[in-house]
Amino acid sequence: MSMEAEKEKQDFIRNIVREDLSLGKNNGSIHTRFPPEPNGFLHIGHAKAICIDFGIAEEFGGKCNLRLDDTNPCKEDPIYVQAIEDDVRWLGFDWGPKLFHASDFFDQMFDCAVFLIRKGLAYVCDLNSEELRRTRGTLTEAGIESPFRSRSVDENLRLFNEMREGKYPEGSKTLRAKIDMANPNIIMRDPVMYRILFEAHHRTGDKWKIYPTYDWAHGLEDYFEGITHSICTLEFEIHRPLYDWFLENLELAQRPRQIEFARLNLAFTVMSKRKLLELVQGSYVKGWDDPRLPTIAGMRRRGYSPAAIRNFCDLIGVTKFNSLTDFALLEHCLREDLNKKAPRAMAVLNPIKLVFSNLPDGHVEWLDAINNPEDPSAGTRKVPFSKELYIDADDFREVPPPKYYRLSPGQEVRLRYAYVIKCLEIVKDPVTGEIKEIICSVDSDSKGGNTKDGRKIKGTIHWVSAPLSHCAELRLYEPLFKTEIPDDVPPGGDFKDNLNPDSLKIVKAFLEPSLAKQSPGTIFQFERVGYFCADKDSTPAMPVFNRAATLKDSWSKIENKQKTK
Ligand code: ATP
Ligand code: MG
Repeated sequence: MSMEAEKEKQDFIRNIVREDLSLGKNNGSIHTRFPPEPNGFLHIGHAKAICIDFGIAEEFGGKCNLRLDDTNPCKEDPIYVQAIEDDVRWLGFDWGPKLFHASDFFDQMFDCAVFLIRKGLAYVCDLNSEELRRTRGTLTEAGIESPFRSRSVDENLRLFNEMREGKYPEGSKTLRAKIDMANPNIIMRDPVMYRILFEAHHRTGDKWKIYPTYDWAHGLEDYFEGITHSICTLEFEIHRPLYDWFLENLELAQRPRQIEFARLNLAFTVMSKRKLLELVQGSYVKGWDDPRLPTIAGMRRRGYSPAAIRNFCDLIGVTKFNSLTDFALLEHCLREDLNKKAPRAMAVLNPIKLVFSNLPDGHVEWLDAINNPEDPSAGTRKVPFSKELYIDADDFREVPPPKYYRLSPGQEVRLRYAYVIKCLEIVKDPVTGEIKEIICSVDSDSKGGNTKDGRKIKGTIHWVSAPLSHCAELRLYEPLFKTEIPDDVPPGGDFKDNLNPDSLKIVKAFLEPSLAKQSPGTIFQFERVGYFCADKDSTPAMPVFNRAATLKDSWSKIENKQKTK
């Protein structure tokens, strides 16, 4: 754990929890939950919620449930359930032996609805969804009471039971709470508790013909699970009076308390599961774990570690204000983590061939290379140095600009972990004029990169052996969208209009031989190039690496600029 994380965290939610604990509420215990709907993969916004829900429970010695909020059978799928479990576990959180499902409580929820009907606080309404919308009123106008509002308790009980038995067609009836059609909060205007749906549920099969709405189900799930603090995002703030109304009128003791915080919005991406699903189904990306997506599975595949994501969530903190978080901050957290952990290796993306005139044909020498200058315990490895090498075309200039310290005619440069070399001659294709190879000499007295006579060599470049390198496919990613807020579209527009056509570029590269066989998920810093993560698409013939990030940390720059302001 980092020093920062060991400090006691301060934010309004933790302050509420501290106060509740000190007052001895809930018998001095805390119990939270993370309640995703299994209708898609989790994304970095969910990671924020997970860090809050599980993190707070952990810090205050409580428990956090993982609950699948499976009240809408139309959109849910067991594939998503598995992905959710994998992602939460991968982030490093544990929900204990029991996984909760909203559907576990469908029977108790039904009984609670009957209780409210008996109290005269719920009624069966025959208005269809269009009529419900029309009679709900607006922010400035009260709604209109349903003509079915005054049905007797007995009639309501009979109809509700018949709804459950499947006697009425989908959409023909609802169960509504009887609250107040003139309430300034539209949510309180006789909200729907149950709708008729002839849809099989992935856990309860075709037992149910009616399904609870989010508002009705959520507080009950919290109550049945013994949740003390039900933490959710700001859009539920206006639902809180209803959350409390249900629990109060059910006369439940030790009621959970709902607390809202601002959701994470990240620049240059979208986070709604509906939109992510659209991108996946429309093949705009290659699956839910496409490394360009903000899904946890995509970020994992790209090379993000749980530590990087958790540090990011700590840094953004918890507030009640909506804001847009810079993508550079997320990448900064990734680089901080990878710089410490990722072993170094050499890879050349845009090769140009060097040939040493003063080495014999077939010369190969295995040199020691440092695995991680940030971590001496990572040790060293052997890299082959040979008569023919590749360097990056960018590290050579026939006509060097001022202050160019890399290779150019007549100039010397240091090869990382190897020797000082000098450019003697350029060999070009006589027809096209293209550079075919560069003839160089090696200063054999400069092993390790230091000259014997103390000549200063300013530049150091990376390289790989030409005959002993391994070809690989590198996938270079740019933001998936070309605009900061892809959801901002003109009328009639679509967020997909803002997709960046250049978000994926595939290039071939030459890698040092140690990189040829790496299991998916292994991460390296290719020196001077970026952080790369071995991909599951790798084959023995062609390793595939995803670029997790470049080496340039634009966040540090932004931070410094802000400090000097
Ligand atoms: P989406 O809008 O992406 O479909 P959702 O809110 O419908 O998200 P749920 O599965 O219901 O998705 O979310 C589970 C929990 O994660 C909820 O408590 C929700 O408030 C929280 N959550 C969802 N998106 C974010 C976000 N961007 N930032 C923080 N918390 C989030
Ligand atoms: Mg939702």
